[in-house]
Amino acid sequence: MPMWKKEKAVPWERRLLVTETNRFVAIPVPEQDPNVRNKNFEEVCLGYSLEDAQKEASRCLSCKVPQCRKGCPVSVNIPEFIGHIKEGNIEEAARSLWAYSALPAVCGRVCPQENQCEKYCVLKNKGDSVSIGKLERFAADYARNHKVKANPPAPFNGHKVAIIGGGPAGLTCAGELAKKGFKVHVFEALQRLGGVLIYGIPSFRLPDEVVEEEVKKLEDLGVEFETNVIVGRTVTIDALKEEGFEAFFIGSGAGLPRFMNIPGENLNGVFSANEFLTRTNLMHANDDLFDTPLKLGQKVAVIGGGNVAMDAARVSKRLGSDVTVVYRRTEKELPARSEEVHHAKEEGIHFKFLTNPVEILGDEDGWTKGIRCIEMELGEPDASGRRRPVPIQGSEFDLAVDTVIMALGTSPNPLISMTTQGLETEDWGGIIVNETGQSTREDIFAGGDAVTGAATVILAMGAGKEAAKGIEDYLLKK
Ligand SMILES: Cc1cc2nc3c(=O)[nH]c(=O)nc-3n(C[C@H](O)[C@H](O)[C@H](O)COP(=O)(O)OP(=O)(O)OC[C@H]3O[C@@H](n4cnc5c(N)ncnc54)[C@H](O)[C@@H]3O)c2cc1C
Repeated sequence: MPMWKKEKAVPWERRLLVTETNRFVAIPVPEQDPNVRNKNFEEVCLGYSLEDAQKEASRCLSCKVPQCRKGCPVSVNIPEFIGHIKEGNIEEAARSLWAYSALPAVCGRVCPQENQCEKYCVLKNKGDSVSIGKLERFAADYARNHKVKANPPAPFNGHKVAIIGGGPAGLTCAGELAKKGFKVHVFEALQRLGGVLIYGIPSFRLPDEVVEEEVKKLEDLGVEFETNVIVGRTVTIDALKEEGFEAFFIGSGAGLPRFMNIPGENLNGVFSANEFLTRTNLMHANDDLFDTPLKLGQKVAVIGGGNVAMDAARVSKRLGSDVTVVYRRTEKELPARSEEVHHAKEEGIHFKFLTNPVEILGDEDGWTKGIRCIEMELGEPDASGRRRPVPIQGSEFDLAVDTVIMALGTSPNPLISMTTQGLETEDWGGIIVNETGQSTREDIFAGGDAVTGAATVILAMGAGKEAAKGIEDYLLKK
């Protein structure tokens, strides 16, 4: 018998919900109107009501062998938390999430669920997967709004750990260790905590207060935070060791932007997406009350096709520009989350596929006035398995723009590895670690973008969690 016919095991009140709801069609989530939201920085997605969350949860089949869990890098017990939502016990749903993830309100908003948990949902064979991400977001938001407290940490076990970097990898590692009774101190280079969650991802996708509240939960667990400390410059790992820290986790991310190395990249009006997004998200260049300079043209080209490119494009649109995303492959190969591409299109962003810049063109005063592009076609697959874009000779054309934002990926900053004895890195800068997250120096662990290069929030969190286990084993077995 097909799984979706196993209704008998479902209590009658839940069966009622299921019969009102088409098992194979997801309950839609309300969103701001595209023509309104493309002029403001308020959150696009408005989230489920309790009633709709319960209806959506009631579509879950509570599979005995849940495939969805296989797709989650931190192994959230998805049927369990969704089961609590079905029953209307949202506090328990949040507690279930916290047992596996330090940042459920973040993951519910920015994880690429379509390639993870929701990809493996058995309902996908017949229709829409259960909206696991939106339900996660609902439970975490409910807990935040109702001030639900996490369980208290274990008593102090006598060990002190330093975490370098306050992004998702560092925060997760900090939370896991604090729960187990370690004294944890996070050192963050910037003035605010959250890493890319604060300075990269814009507030219309992930409001600052959501990240702040997740950090507050870690403070409640006893984690100490110190901002404006650049490890490798303000203080070194060896100096911290002398202060009594016995083990270290490096979650310093991959904040060094890549450029194309084409003529004209030094012209005024050319930004890295990192700089552009940091100026708006962290330094509030979009807000008249802040004195952050940002001269954005009327016509903006964003080069690249990942989440960073979508964010840069959507922020530029909100600042009043006409925006075109220029990408060298086709729409099918866009690496951004499908929801972000869909939202960008709805908001009026233009796309130019199979197109690559070869030169940025400037005026006599040194300001950008356009891009010379070349048309591309897809050739044989490259090392990544994707078909390689090949330029079509003689197809050059000019695109009139006055700002260019490069969103071509990032690599790890070498500052920490340059100042830390015994810490080895790959040629491209990634810190070398084993399967427990331990680096080539036994007291230093690492994870997240600093190890893998630019990846995803949940992979960074998975690595932070893995390394916390590694640190625990290292310190307790010493
Ligand atoms: C614009 C943008 C949009 C994205 N959108 C998504 C998305 O939708 N979904 C998704 O899953 N992923 C997305 N990502 C990727 C995701 O955000 C990253 O993979 C993730 O944040 C990596 O986490 P991390 O903790 O390793 O590093 P980071 O988030 O980069 O955090 C590293 C932290 O370390 C600090 N640091 C660096 N050097 C030092 C030092 N020497 N001393 C002290 N502190 C230091 C940094 O200031 C930073 O706060 C996006 C990335 C960007 C840039």
